Amino acid sequence: MAATTVGIKDRGSQIPYAEPPWLSDLPSPYIRDSHRRLQRAMREWVDKNLIPNASDWERCGRFSPDLYQACAEAGILMPMAAGKTIPHEWRSFYPIIGGIEASEWDGFHDFIIHDEMMRVGGIGIPNGLIGGLTLCLPALKKHGKGPAIERIIDEALSGQSQFSLAVTEPEAGSDVQGVTTTAILGADGTTYTVNGQKKVPFSDDPRLYLMASPTVGYSEANKALQWITGGMYAKYFLTLTRTVDQGFTLLVIPKDSTVTVRPMEMCGSACAGTAFVEFDDTVVPVTNRIGEHGGGLACVMSNFNHERLFISFQAMRCARMCLEDALSHAITRETFGQELVSHAVVRHKLAHMAREVEALHSWIETLIYQLGNLDERESTAKLAGQMAQLKAHSGIVLERVVSQGIQLMGGLGLTRGGRGERLERIWRDVKAITIPGGSEDILLDLSIRRAVRGLTGASEPRKNAKM
Ligand SMILES: Cc1cc2nc3c(=O)[nH]c(=O)nc-3n(C[C@H](O)[C@H](O)[C@H](O)COP(=O)(O)OP(=O)(O)OC[C@H]3O[C@@H](n4cnc5c(N)ncnc54)[C@H](O)[C@@H]3O)c2cc1C
Repeated sequence: MAATTVGIKDRGSQIPYAEPPWLSDLPSPYIRDSHRRLQRAMREWVDKNLIPNASDWERCGRFSPDLYQACAEAGILMPMAAGKTIPHEWRSFYPIIGGIEASEWDGFHDFIIHDEMMRVGGIGIPNGLIGGLTLCLPALKKHGKGPAIERIIDEALSGQSQFSLAVTEPEAGSDVQGVTTTAILGADGTTYTVNGQKKVPFSDDPRLYLMASPTVGYSEANKALQWITGGMYAKYFLTLTRTVDQGFTLLVIPKDSTVTVRPMEMCGSACAGTAFVEFDDTVVPVTNRIGEHGGGLACVMSNFNHERLFISFQAMRCARMCLEDALSHAITRETFGQELVSHAVVRHKLAHMAREVEALHSWIETLIYQLGNLDERESTAKLAGQMAQLKAHSGIVLERVVSQGIQLMGGLGLTRGGRGERLERIWRDVKAITIPGGSEDILLDLSIRRAVRGLTGASEPRKNAKM
Protein backbone atom coordinates (compact mmCIF):
# COMPACT_ATOMS: atom_id res chain seq x y z
CA MET A 1 0.00 0.00 0.00
CA ALA A 2 1.30 3.48 -0.82
CA ALA A 3 2.41 5.95 1.87
CA THR A 4 -0.90 6.97 3.37
CA THR A 5 -0.79 7.05 7.11
CA VAL A 6 2.63 8.41 7.95
CA GLY A 7 3.04 11.10 10.54
CA ILE A 8 1.12 12.41 13.48
CA LYS A 9 -1.91 10.21 14.08
CA ASP A 10 -4.60 12.80 14.58
CA ARG A 11 -3.57 14.86 11.59
CA GLY A 12 -3.48 11.87 9.30
CA SER A 13 -1.07 11.78 6.41
CA GLN A 14 1.63 14.45 6.33
CA ILE A 15 1.87 14.36 2.55
CA PRO A 16 0.69 17.78 1.31
CA TYR A 17 -2.96 17.80 0.13
CA ALA A 18 -3.54 14.24 1.38
CA GLU A 19 -6.08 15.36 3.96
CA PRO A 20 -8.94 17.86 4.01
CA PRO A 21 -7.58 21.31 4.97
CA TRP A 22 -9.30 21.28 8.37
CA LEU A 23 -7.47 18.07 9.27
CA SER A 24 -4.18 19.74 8.39
CA ASP A 25 -4.69 22.34 11.13
CA LEU A 26 -6.28 25.00 8.96
CA PRO A 27 -9.31 26.82 10.38
CA SER A 28 -12.77 25.87 9.12
CA PRO A 29 -16.15 27.47 9.82
CA TYR A 30 -17.86 24.07 9.53
CA ILE A 31 -15.86 21.68 11.70
CA ARG A 32 -16.62 21.09 15.38
CA ASP A 33 -15.41 18.63 17.98
CA SER A 34 -18.00 16.01 16.95
CA HIS A 35 -16.68 16.06 13.36
CA ARG A 36 -13.15 15.45 14.62
CA ARG A 37 -14.31 12.59 16.84
CA LEU A 38 -16.16 11.01 13.94
CA GLN A 39 -13.13 11.30 11.67
CA ARG A 40 -10.84 9.65 14.23
CA ALA A 41 -13.27 6.80 14.93
CA MET A 42 -13.91 6.10 11.24
CA ARG A 43 -10.22 6.23 10.42
CA GLU A 44 -9.43 3.70 13.08
CA TRP A 45 -12.23 1.40 11.93
CA VAL A 46 -11.32 1.61 8.24
CA ASP A 47 -7.59 1.16 8.97
CA LYS A 48 -8.36 -1.96 10.99
CA ASN A 49 -11.25 -3.56 9.13
CA LEU A 50 -11.04 -2.53 5.47
CA ILE A 51 -7.60 -1.44 4.30
CA PRO A 52 -5.65 -4.58 5.32
CA ASN A 53 -8.13 -6.77 3.38
CA ALA A 54 -8.84 -4.58 0.38
CA SER A 55 -6.32 -6.11 -2.03
CA ASP A 56 -7.40 -9.67 -1.27
CA TRP A 57 -11.09 -8.82 -1.59
CA GLU A 58 -10.46 -7.04 -4.89
CA ARG A 59 -8.60 -10.09 -6.18
CA CYS A 60 -11.34 -12.55 -5.26
CA GLY A 61 -14.16 -10.19 -6.26
CA ARG A 62 -16.08 -10.03 -3.00
CA PHE A 63 -15.67 -8.87 0.57
CA SER A 64 -16.20 -11.04 3.62
CA PRO A 65 -19.85 -12.04 4.24
CA ASP A 66 -19.95 -10.64 7.78
CA LEU A 67 -18.70 -7.17 6.81
CA TYR A 68 -22.13 -5.58 6.46
CA GLN A 69 -23.12 -6.78 9.91
CA ALA A 70 -19.81 -5.47 11.26
CA CYS A 71 -20.65 -2.03 9.82
CA ALA A 72 -23.99 -2.09 11.64
CA GLU A 73 -22.37 -3.01 14.94
CA ALA A 74 -19.72 -0.33 14.54
CA GLY A 75 -22.43 2.32 14.03
CA ILE A 76 -21.76 3.04 10.38
CA LEU A 77 -24.91 1.88 8.58
CA MET A 78 -27.64 4.01 10.10
CA PRO A 79 -25.84 7.34 9.71
CA MET A 80 -24.91 6.46 6.13
CA ALA A 81 -28.57 5.75 5.36
CA ALA A 82 -29.66 8.96 7.09
CA GLY A 83 -27.60 11.53 5.17
CA LYS A 84 -27.52 15.01 6.66
CA THR A 85 -29.99 14.46 9.55
CA ILE A 86 -30.66 11.44 11.75
CA PRO A 87 -34.44 10.74 11.79
CA HIS A 88 -36.00 10.78 15.27
CA GLU A 89 -37.44 7.28 14.77
CA TRP A 90 -33.96 5.80 14.32
CA ARG A 91 -32.19 7.64 17.13
CA SER A 92 -32.50 5.25 20.02
CA PHE A 93 -32.24 2.02 18.03
CA TYR A 94 -28.98 2.15 16.11
CA PRO A 95 -25.50 3.25 17.25
CA ILE A 96 -23.40 5.98 15.63
CA ILE A 97 -19.67 5.42 15.33
CA GLY A 98 -17.53 7.63 17.57
CA GLY A 99 -20.41 8.02 20.01
CA ILE A 100 -21.67 11.07 18.12
CA GLU A 101 -25.02 12.35 19.41
CA ALA A 102 -27.78 12.04 16.81
CA SER A 103 -28.77 15.65 17.52
CA GLU A 104 -25.26 16.83 16.55
CA TRP A 105 -25.26 15.08 13.18
CA ASP A 106 -25.19 17.29 10.06
CA GLY A 107 -24.12 17.23 6.41
CA PHE A 108 -20.45 17.56 7.32
CA HIS A 109 -20.62 14.38 9.41
CA ASP A 110 -22.15 12.74 6.33
CA PHE A 111 -19.22 13.97 4.22
CA ILE A 112 -16.65 12.75 6.76
CA ILE A 113 -18.10 9.25 7.24
CA HIS A 114 -18.10 8.60 3.46
CA ASP A 115 -14.75 10.33 2.94
CA GLU A 116 -13.09 8.10 5.53
CA MET A 117 -14.62 4.91 4.13
CA MET A 118 -13.31 5.86 0.69
CA ARG A 119 -9.74 5.64 2.00
CA VAL A 120 -10.03 1.91 1.29
CA GLY A 121 -8.97 2.97 -2.25
CA GLY A 122 -11.41 2.75 -5.17
CA ILE A 123 -15.18 2.64 -5.15
CA GLY A 124 -15.80 -1.11 -5.49
CA ILE A 125 -15.85 -2.05 -1.80
CA PRO A 126 -17.84 0.99 -0.60
CA ASN A 127 -20.38 0.62 -3.39
CA GLY A 128 -20.87 -3.10 -2.80
CA LEU A 129 -21.12 -2.53 0.93
CA ILE A 130 -23.18 0.62 1.45
CA GLY A 131 -24.09 1.89 -2.06
CA GLY A 132 -27.54 0.30 -2.06
CA LEU A 133 -28.23 1.41 1.49
CA THR A 134 -27.32 5.03 0.75
CA LEU A 135 -29.34 5.10 -2.48
CA CYS A 136 -32.43 3.20 -1.32
CA LEU A 137 -33.09 3.84 2.37
CA PRO A 138 -33.96 7.55 2.05
CA ALA A 139 -36.86 6.68 -0.28
CA LEU A 140 -38.11 3.99 2.11
CA LYS A 141 -37.87 6.38 5.05
CA LYS A 142 -39.57 9.25 3.23
CA HIS A 143 -42.26 7.45 1.24
CA GLY A 144 -42.67 3.96 2.75
CA LYS A 145 -45.52 3.23 5.15
CA GLY A 146 -46.59 0.44 7.46
CA PRO A 147 -45.09 -2.37 9.54
CA ALA A 148 -43.74 -4.33 6.54
CA ILE A 149 -41.55 -1.42 5.45
CA GLU A 150 -40.51 -0.70 9.04
CA ARG A 151 -39.37 -4.31 9.41
CA ILE A 152 -37.42 -4.15 6.15
CA ILE A 153 -35.76 -0.87 7.18
CA ASP A 154 -34.79 -2.46 10.48
CA GLU A 155 -33.27 -5.45 8.67
CA ALA A 156 -31.15 -3.10 6.57
CA LEU A 157 -30.02 -0.83 9.40
CA SER A 158 -29.24 -3.67 11.80
CA GLY A 159 -26.97 -5.33 9.25
CA GLN A 160 -29.12 -8.35 8.35
CA SER A 161 -30.02 -7.51 4.74
CA GLN A 162 -28.45 -5.51 1.95
CA PHE A 163 -30.27 -3.39 -0.64
CA SER A 164 -29.81 -2.61 -4.33
CA LEU A 165 -31.45 0.04 -6.47
CA ALA A 166 -32.83 -1.65 -9.60
CA VAL A 167 -33.89 0.82 -12.26
CA THR A 168 -31.68 0.42 -15.33
CA GLU A 169 -32.74 -1.84 -18.18
CA PRO A 170 -31.38 -2.28 -21.70
CA GLU A 171 -33.74 0.39 -23.05
CA ALA A 172 -33.88 2.49 -19.88
CA GLY A 173 -30.57 4.10 -18.98
CA SER A 174 -30.50 7.87 -18.93
CA ASP A 175 -34.06 7.83 -20.20
CA VAL A 176 -36.23 6.12 -17.60
CA GLN A 177 -39.23 6.25 -19.95
CA GLY A 178 -37.92 3.00 -21.37
CA VAL A 179 -38.60 0.94 -18.21
CA THR A 180 -40.50 -2.19 -19.22
CA THR A 181 -40.42 -4.29 -16.03
CA THR A 182 -44.13 -4.68 -15.37
CA ALA A 183 -46.06 -4.83 -12.11
CA ILE A 184 -49.64 -6.07 -12.44
CA LEU A 185 -51.91 -5.45 -9.46
CA GLY A 186 -53.88 -8.62 -8.63
CA ALA A 187 -57.70 -8.65 -8.66
CA ASP A 188 -57.90 -8.63 -4.85
CA GLY A 189 -55.50 -5.68 -4.65
CA THR A 190 -53.09 -7.34 -2.20
CA THR A 191 -50.18 -8.27 -4.48
CA TYR A 192 -48.32 -7.19 -7.60
CA THR A 193 -46.89 -9.70 -10.05
CA VAL A 194 -43.59 -8.44 -11.42
CA ASN A 195 -41.95 -9.50 -14.65
CA GLY A 196 -38.68 -8.20 -15.95
CA GLN A 197 -37.27 -8.14 -19.42
CA LYS A 198 -37.60 -11.88 -19.74
CA LYS A 199 -41.17 -11.74 -21.03
CA VAL A 200 -40.43 -9.11 -23.67
CA PRO A 201 -39.85 -10.64 -27.09
CA PHE A 202 -36.29 -9.99 -28.17
CA SER A 203 -35.91 -7.29 -30.80
CA ASP A 204 -34.95 -8.51 -34.26
CA ASP A 205 -33.41 -5.14 -35.06
CA PRO A 206 -30.26 -6.15 -37.02
CA ARG A 207 -28.32 -3.19 -35.57
CA LEU A 208 -28.40 -4.88 -32.17
CA TYR A 209 -26.89 -8.07 -33.57
CA LEU A 210 -24.08 -6.02 -35.07
CA MET A 211 -23.12 -5.06 -31.51
CA ALA A 212 -23.27 -8.57 -30.09
CA SER A 213 -20.10 -9.75 -28.38
CA PRO A 214 -18.71 -13.12 -29.48
CA THR A 215 -19.08 -14.59 -25.98
CA VAL A 216 -22.26 -13.07 -24.56
CA GLY A 217 -24.67 -12.12 -27.33
CA TYR A 218 -26.66 -8.90 -27.02
CA SER A 219 -29.79 -11.01 -26.71
CA GLU A 220 -28.46 -12.52 -23.47
CA ALA A 221 -27.80 -9.12 -21.91
CA ASN A 222 -31.12 -7.83 -23.19
CA LYS A 223 -33.13 -10.03 -20.86
CA ALA A 224 -32.47 -8.42 -17.51
CA LEU A 225 -32.15 -5.30 -15.44
CA GLN A 226 -28.49 -4.49 -15.62
CA TRP A 227 -25.60 -2.77 -13.83
CA ILE A 228 -27.35 -3.33 -10.53
CA THR A 229 -24.68 -2.37 -8.00
CA GLY A 230 -24.56 -4.68 -4.97
CA GLY A 231 -27.02 -7.05 -6.66
CA MET A 232 -24.85 -10.05 -5.80
CA TYR A 233 -25.16 -9.24 -2.08
CA ALA A 234 -28.71 -7.91 -1.95
CA LYS A 235 -31.72 -9.43 -0.25
CA TYR A 236 -33.97 -6.54 -1.38
CA PHE A 237 -34.23 -4.74 -4.72
CA LEU A 238 -35.85 -1.31 -4.73
CA THR A 239 -37.28 -1.62 -8.22
CA LEU A 240 -38.97 0.86 -10.53
CA THR A 241 -41.76 -0.90 -12.42
CA ARG A 242 -44.26 0.10 -15.04
CA THR A 243 -47.87 -0.47 -14.09
CA VAL A 244 -50.72 -1.18 -16.51
CA ASP A 245 -51.89 2.43 -16.51
CA GLN A 246 -48.38 3.38 -17.71
CA GLY A 247 -47.39 5.01 -14.44
CA PHE A 248 -44.24 3.99 -12.57
CA THR A 249 -44.56 2.16 -9.28
CA LEU A 250 -41.71 1.62 -6.84
CA LEU A 251 -41.56 -1.74 -5.06
CA VAL A 252 -39.26 -3.36 -2.52
CA ILE A 253 -38.79 -6.83 -4.04
CA PRO A 254 -37.31 -9.53 -1.80
CA LYS A 255 -35.00 -12.03 -3.44
CA ASP A 256 -36.77 -15.39 -3.77
CA SER A 257 -36.71 -18.33 -6.16
CA THR A 258 -38.39 -16.26 -8.91
CA VAL A 259 -35.60 -13.66 -8.84
CA THR A 260 -32.47 -14.52 -10.80
CA VAL A 261 -29.26 -12.66 -10.07
CA ARG A 262 -26.16 -13.13 -12.21
CA PRO A 263 -22.78 -11.42 -11.93
CA MET A 264 -22.01 -8.76 -14.51
CA GLU A 265 -18.31 -8.51 -15.20
CA MET A 266 -17.13 -4.91 -15.13
CA CYS A 267 -13.90 -3.12 -15.95
CA GLY A 268 -13.26 -2.10 -12.32
CA SER A 269 -14.97 -2.28 -8.92
CA ALA A 270 -14.62 -6.04 -8.58
CA CYS A 271 -16.22 -6.00 -5.11
CA ALA A 272 -19.25 -3.91 -6.10
CA GLY A 273 -21.30 -7.05 -6.74
CA THR A 274 -22.67 -5.64 -10.01
CA ALA A 275 -25.42 -7.86 -11.38
CA PHE A 276 -28.06 -8.67 -13.95
CA VAL A 277 -31.42 -9.13 -12.19
CA GLU A 278 -34.51 -10.83 -13.62
CA PHE A 279 -38.01 -11.12 -12.20
CA ASP A 280 -40.16 -13.99 -13.40
CA ASP A 281 -43.74 -13.86 -12.09
CA THR A 282 -42.41 -12.51 -8.80
CA VAL A 283 -45.24 -11.88 -6.35
CA VAL A 284 -44.80 -8.78 -4.19
CA PRO A 285 -47.23 -7.70 -1.45
CA VAL A 286 -48.70 -4.21 -1.91
CA THR A 287 -47.41 -3.44 1.56
CA ASN A 288 -43.94 -3.38 -0.05
CA ARG A 289 -44.90 -0.44 -2.27
CA ILE A 290 -43.01 2.82 -1.73
CA GLY A 291 -45.20 5.85 -2.38
CA GLU A 292 -48.42 5.76 -4.36
CA HIS A 293 -49.39 3.39 -7.16
CA GLY A 294 -48.10 5.26 -10.24
CA GLY A 295 -46.02 7.66 -8.13
CA GLY A 296 -42.73 5.74 -8.12
CA LEU A 297 -40.62 8.02 -10.26
CA ALA A 298 -41.02 10.99 -7.92
CA CYS A 299 -39.96 8.77 -4.98
CA VAL A 300 -36.77 7.67 -6.76
CA MET A 301 -36.01 11.24 -7.79
CA SER A 302 -36.53 12.56 -4.26
CA ASN A 303 -33.06 11.30 -3.29
CA PHE A 304 -31.19 12.64 -6.32
CA ASN A 305 -29.54 15.58 -4.53
CA HIS A 306 -28.04 13.30 -1.91
CA GLU A 307 -27.13 10.58 -4.42
CA ARG A 308 -25.14 13.11 -6.45
CA LEU A 309 -23.49 14.51 -3.36
CA PHE A 310 -22.53 10.98 -2.24
CA ILE A 311 -20.88 10.27 -5.62
CA SER A 312 -19.01 13.59 -5.35
CA PHE A 313 -17.72 12.53 -1.91
CA GLN A 314 -16.40 9.36 -3.52
CA ALA A 315 -14.73 11.21 -6.38
CA MET A 316 -13.27 13.71 -3.93
CA ARG A 317 -11.38 11.18 -1.79
CA CYS A 318 -10.30 9.19 -4.85
CA ALA A 319 -8.79 12.36 -6.35
CA ARG A 320 -7.04 13.18 -3.05
CA MET A 321 -5.54 9.68 -2.90
CA CYS A 322 -4.25 9.98 -6.47
CA LEU A 323 -2.60 13.29 -5.60
CA GLU A 324 -1.21 11.87 -2.35
CA ASP A 325 0.35 8.85 -4.02
CA ALA A 326 1.70 10.81 -6.98
CA LEU A 327 3.20 13.47 -4.73
CA SER A 328 4.81 10.99 -2.36
CA HIS A 329 6.29 9.24 -5.40
CA ALA A 330 7.55 12.54 -6.84
CA ILE A 331 9.51 13.36 -3.70
CA THR A 332 11.21 9.98 -3.50
CA ARG A 333 11.77 8.85 -7.09
CA GLU A 334 14.89 10.12 -8.84
CA THR A 335 15.39 10.46 -12.58
CA PHE A 336 18.40 12.03 -14.30
CA GLY A 337 20.04 12.52 -10.90
CA GLN A 338 17.18 14.50 -9.41
CA GLU A 339 13.98 13.82 -7.51
CA LEU A 340 11.00 13.99 -9.81
CA VAL A 341 9.63 16.98 -7.93
CA SER A 342 12.76 18.95 -8.84
CA HIS A 343 11.60 19.08 -12.45
CA ALA A 344 9.46 22.16 -13.10
CA VAL A 345 7.17 20.20 -15.43
CA VAL A 346 6.40 17.72 -12.67
CA ARG A 347 5.65 20.50 -10.16
CA HIS A 348 3.37 22.08 -12.72
CA LYS A 349 1.40 18.84 -13.09
CA LEU A 350 1.13 18.46 -9.31
CA ALA A 351 -0.02 22.07 -8.97
CA HIS A 352 -2.85 21.49 -11.44
CA MET A 353 -3.89 18.34 -9.59
CA ALA A 354 -3.82 20.15 -6.24
CA ARG A 355 -5.82 23.17 -7.37
CA GLU A 356 -8.53 20.92 -8.81
CA VAL A 357 -8.70 18.80 -5.65
CA GLU A 358 -8.87 21.76 -3.25
CA ALA A 359 -11.40 23.65 -5.36
CA LEU A 360 -13.64 20.58 -5.51
CA HIS A 361 -13.41 20.20 -1.74
CA SER A 362 -14.45 23.81 -1.19
CA TRP A 363 -17.40 23.54 -3.58
CA ILE A 364 -18.62 20.39 -1.83
CA GLU A 365 -18.41 22.14 1.55
CA THR A 366 -20.30 25.17 0.26
CA LEU A 367 -23.12 23.01 -1.12
CA ILE A 368 -23.34 20.97 2.10
CA TYR A 369 -23.69 24.21 4.03
CA GLN A 370 -26.37 25.50 1.65
CA LEU A 371 -28.30 22.18 1.69
CA GLY A 372 -28.17 22.20 5.48
CA ASN A 373 -29.72 25.62 5.64
CA LEU A 374 -32.59 25.16 3.21
CA ASP A 375 -35.68 23.02 3.59
CA GLU A 376 -36.20 20.20 1.11
CA ARG A 377 -38.49 22.11 -1.23
CA GLU A 378 -36.17 25.08 -1.40
CA SER A 379 -33.03 23.04 -1.81
CA THR A 380 -34.58 21.17 -4.75
CA ALA A 381 -35.69 24.41 -6.36
CA LYS A 382 -32.46 26.28 -5.76
CA LEU A 383 -29.73 23.64 -5.75
CA ALA A 384 -30.75 20.68 -7.95
CA GLY A 385 -28.94 22.19 -10.94
CA GLN A 386 -25.80 22.84 -8.92
CA MET A 387 -25.87 19.36 -7.41
CA ALA A 388 -26.04 17.93 -10.94
CA GLN A 389 -23.13 20.14 -11.94
CA LEU A 390 -21.12 19.19 -8.86
CA LYS A 391 -21.54 15.47 -9.58
CA ALA A 392 -20.46 15.96 -13.20
CA HIS A 393 -17.57 18.21 -12.16
CA SER A 394 -16.29 15.76 -9.55
CA GLY A 395 -16.01 13.06 -12.23
CA ILE A 396 -14.21 15.45 -14.59
CA VAL A 397 -11.75 16.39 -11.82
CA LEU A 398 -11.13 12.76 -10.94
CA GLU A 399 -10.55 11.78 -14.56
CA ARG A 400 -7.91 14.47 -14.95
CA VAL A 401 -6.26 13.86 -11.58
CA VAL A 402 -6.03 10.08 -11.90
CA SER A 403 -4.66 10.39 -15.43
CA GLN A 404 -1.96 12.87 -14.35
CA GLY A 405 -1.22 10.78 -11.26
CA ILE A 406 -0.59 7.69 -13.32
CA GLN A 407 1.57 9.66 -15.71
CA LEU A 408 3.73 10.76 -12.76
CA MET A 409 3.96 7.26 -11.31
CA GLY A 410 5.11 5.84 -14.64
CA GLY A 411 4.73 2.08 -14.99
CA LEU A 412 3.95 1.73 -11.28
CA GLY A 413 0.66 3.50 -11.88
CA LEU A 414 -0.48 0.76 -14.21
CA THR A 415 0.59 -2.12 -11.99
CA ARG A 416 -1.74 -4.07 -9.73
CA GLY A 417 -0.26 -4.15 -6.22
CA GLY A 418 2.62 -2.04 -4.92
CA ARG A 419 2.91 1.73 -4.72
CA GLY A 420 0.62 2.43 -7.63
CA GLU A 421 -2.13 0.09 -6.49
CA ARG A 422 -4.70 2.72 -5.55
CA LEU A 423 -4.14 4.75 -8.72
CA GLU A 424 -4.44 1.69 -10.90
CA ARG A 425 -7.68 0.70 -9.16
CA ILE A 426 -9.14 4.20 -9.37
CA TRP A 427 -8.19 4.39 -13.06
CA ARG A 428 -10.38 1.34 -13.68
CA ASP A 429 -13.15 2.85 -11.52
CA VAL A 430 -13.27 6.40 -12.81
CA LYS A 431 -15.97 5.84 -15.44
CA ALA A 432 -18.12 4.27 -12.73
CA ILE A 433 -18.17 7.79 -11.26
CA THR A 434 -18.94 9.68 -14.48
CA ILE A 435 -21.71 7.40 -15.86
CA PRO A 436 -24.02 6.14 -13.06
CA GLY A 437 -26.04 8.52 -10.91
CA GLY A 438 -26.63 10.66 -13.98
CA SER A 439 -24.21 10.62 -16.86
CA GLU A 440 -21.99 13.68 -17.17
CA ASP A 441 -23.55 15.02 -20.37
CA ILE A 442 -27.08 14.67 -19.07
CA LEU A 443 -26.28 16.39 -15.77
CA LEU A 444 -24.40 19.30 -17.32
CA ASP A 445 -27.30 19.83 -19.71
CA LEU A 446 -29.79 19.62 -16.84
CA SER A 447 -27.89 22.19 -14.78
CA ILE A 448 -28.11 24.86 -17.49
CA ARG A 449 -31.72 24.00 -18.32
CA ARG A 450 -32.56 24.62 -14.68
CA ALA A 451 -30.47 27.77 -14.51
CA VAL A 452 -32.22 29.40 -17.47
CA ARG A 453 -35.66 27.97 -16.70
CA GLY A 454 -38.26 30.63 -17.20
CA LEU A 455 -35.86 32.81 -19.19
CA THR A 456 -36.18 30.95 -22.49
CA GLY A 457 -38.82 28.76 -24.13
CA ALA A 458 -36.65 25.65 -24.58
CA SER A 459 -35.26 25.23 -21.11
CA GLU A 460 -37.40 22.77 -19.16
CA PRO A 461 -35.48 19.80 -17.68
CA ARG A 462 -35.69 16.74 -19.88
CA LYS A 463 -38.78 14.82 -18.80
CA ASN A 464 -38.01 11.60 -16.92
CA ALA A 465 -34.26 11.79 -17.56
CA LYS A 466 -33.10 9.50 -14.78
CA MET A 467 -30.19 11.27 -13.44
C1 LIG B 1 -20.73 1.07 -12.59
C2 LIG B 1 -22.20 1.28 -12.77
C3 LIG B 1 -23.05 1.10 -11.70
C4 LIG B 1 -24.43 1.27 -11.88
N1 LIG B 1 -25.27 1.01 -10.83
C5 LIG B 1 -26.61 1.04 -11.05
C6 LIG B 1 -27.52 0.64 -10.03
O1 LIG B 1 -27.13 0.28 -8.91
N2 LIG B 1 -28.85 0.64 -10.30
C7 LIG B 1 -29.32 1.04 -11.51
O2 LIG B 1 -30.53 1.03 -11.69
N3 LIG B 1 -28.49 1.43 -12.50
C8 LIG B 1 -27.14 1.44 -12.30
N4 LIG B 1 -26.29 1.80 -13.31
C9 LIG B 1 -26.82 2.24 -14.58
C10 LIG B 1 -26.65 3.73 -14.81
O3 LIG B 1 -27.61 4.44 -14.09
C11 LIG B 1 -26.74 3.99 -16.32
O4 LIG B 1 -25.58 3.40 -16.89
C12 LIG B 1 -26.81 5.46 -16.64
O5 LIG B 1 -28.05 5.99 -16.26
C13 LIG B 1 -26.61 5.73 -18.13
O6 LIG B 1 -27.45 4.90 -18.87
P1 LIG B 1 -26.85 4.00 -20.08
O7 LIG B 1 -25.64 3.34 -19.58
O8 LIG B 1 -27.94 3.18 -20.62
O9 LIG B 1 -26.37 5.06 -21.13
P2 LIG B 1 -27.32 5.79 -22.23
O10 LIG B 1 -28.50 6.39 -21.57
O11 LIG B 1 -27.52 4.87 -23.36
O12 LIG B 1 -26.34 6.94 -22.67
C14 LIG B 1 -25.10 6.64 -23.31
C15 LIG B 1 -24.25 7.90 -23.33
O13 LIG B 1 -24.90 8.88 -24.09
C16 LIG B 1 -24.97 10.10 -23.38
N5 LIG B 1 -26.31 10.67 -23.55
C17 LIG B 1 -27.50 10.02 -23.41
N6 LIG B 1 -28.52 10.86 -23.63
C18 LIG B 1 -27.98 12.08 -23.91
C19 LIG B 1 -28.51 13.36 -24.19
N7 LIG B 1 -29.81 13.59 -24.20
N8 LIG B 1 -27.65 14.37 -24.41
C20 LIG B 1 -26.30 14.17 -24.37
N9 LIG B 1 -25.74 12.97 -24.10
C21 LIG B 1 -26.56 11.94 -23.86
C22 LIG B 1 -24.77 9.76 -21.91
O14 LIG B 1 -23.98 10.76 -21.29
C23 LIG B 1 -24.08 8.44 -21.91
O15 LIG B 1 -22.70 8.57 -21.59
C24 LIG B 1 -24.92 1.67 -13.13
C25 LIG B 1 -24.04 1.88 -14.20
C26 LIG B 1 -22.69 1.69 -14.03
C27 LIG B 1 -21.78 1.93 -15.21
